[in-house]
Amino acid sequence: MEYGIRTLDDVNVTNRTVLCRVDFNQPLNKKDGTLKSTKRIEAVIPTIKELILKKAKIVLLTHQGSDIEYNNFGSTKPHSIVLAQLLDYPVKYIDDICGPAAIAAIMNLDPGEVLLLENVRYEAEEQTLFEINVALHPDEQIQTRVIQKLAPLVDYYLCDAFAAAHRNQPSLCAFEYIVPSIMGRLFEKEYQVISAIMDNPTRPSVYILGGAKIADALMIMQQILDNNSADIILTGGLVANLCLVATGRNIGSTSYRLLEKKGFIEYIPQLKRILELYSTRIVLPVDLAYIDNNERMEVLVTQLPNDQSYLDIGSKTIAKYIDILNEAKTVFVNGPLGVFEELPSDLGTRSIWKCLEESEAYTVIGGGDSITAVENFIDASKISYICTGGGALIRFISGEELPVIKALRYSAAHFNFGGSDEHNQISSDSR
Ligand code: ADP
Ligand code: MG
Repeated sequence: MEYGIRTLDDVNVTNRTVLCRVDFNQPLNKKDGTLKSTKRIEAVIPTIKELILKKAKIVLLTHQGSDIEYNNFGSTKPHSIVLAQLLDYPVKYIDDICGPAAIAAIMNLDPGEVLLLENVRYEAEEQTLFEINVALHPDEQIQTRVIQKLAPLVDYYLCDAFAAAHRNQPSLCAFEYIVPSIMGRLFEKEYQVISAIMDNPTRPSVYILGGAKIADALMIMQQILDNNSADIILTGGLVANLCLVATGRNIGSTSYRLLEKKGFIEYIPQLKRILELYSTRIVLPVDLAYIDNNERMEVLVTQLPNDQSYLDIGSKTIAKYIDILNEAKTVFVNGPLGVFEELPSDLGTRSIWKCLEESEAYTVIGGGDSITAVENFIDASKISYICTGGGALIRFISGEELPVIKALRYSAAHFNFGGSDEHNQISSDSR
């Protein structure tokens, strides 16, 4: 058993009810509630197909949006339509999570049938602010309605929601304590790919950290430099702008104020320590770009005008980064190098992504916006692996044991997976 977690290879699912927690969460088109991307659904298809072939009774559970992502909060009905199209196979949908209608639908499933339940975050305890503010312990999570109602109906719990593996919510982290639980094929694949680049990358290994999530970038920087997963880190986006400030560059009041407004200034002392410790392995831009009357202007970081918003890395930096990437054997990317959504500040991200498209290196990209940039600028099939996870991926690379992984390990260690009909209940003192 790899990673201390059971997989579909360890269980006989034929005629058994398998509850699959997936992550179909997508940006929605506000007008009609349709999905902006189907990538997350496509990624789970291999698991679902395998379950269909093995004649399991398949119950799918996902969230869509949340209290902190309220503009994307909505029903999973559109997902059921997309899933049926992608599978070319019927998918039942029920407008219920764990009430009488859902229970009846689950009990009426025939082997090989697929049922998608309603958005699990319509239940209070599944919400993110609830998770943060109430922080239930597994013993308490087991008592929530979703778990109490659904656990008695299922033989196995399968988690394929790697992208949500950093969430400590009942539908992700509690079934494992009362139902024999496994990871799905997507989860397994993401685990394999990420641990391989962390533990045993072909060198040189280059990380590109850009975008706007400074806390994430800091967390990962420290870890990958300390444990030598990364030989070199190339910086871009607001991460680079903040690094420049931390090394004493004057980026002007306009750009500084943006960092201030986002609350990034407090990270400077920590960033400064890392930059001093690893000065040769963290590469900062040598020039930046700003937009003046729709025209792209580039300036050296030693001569940055005061009142400009620096939205991209400059051409000299692009050339320097491409030289480094051409030598790389492993490249991990999280975060675009500039405001790639608009012209002409897309140049940095577009050029670097093109370089990755042509690269012979093993290339891994994660993060919602980074993946959007892949879809906009290059042929996604030329990237070795595109991760579905953002926050989960970052935390995994930062060396955290994710709550879902912890729970799946618990399940592997405490249940008998020999295909017995009875659930192996755990006594509360062993928990
Ligand atoms: P990901 O979703 O790939 O993890 P992030 O969400 O961290 O990436 O960052 C993406 C966002 O950062 C984009 O909306 C992009 O416009 C923004 N961004 C990148 N560079 C800059 C910059 N120099 N100034 C302002 N915003 C930037
Ligand atoms: Mg993003």
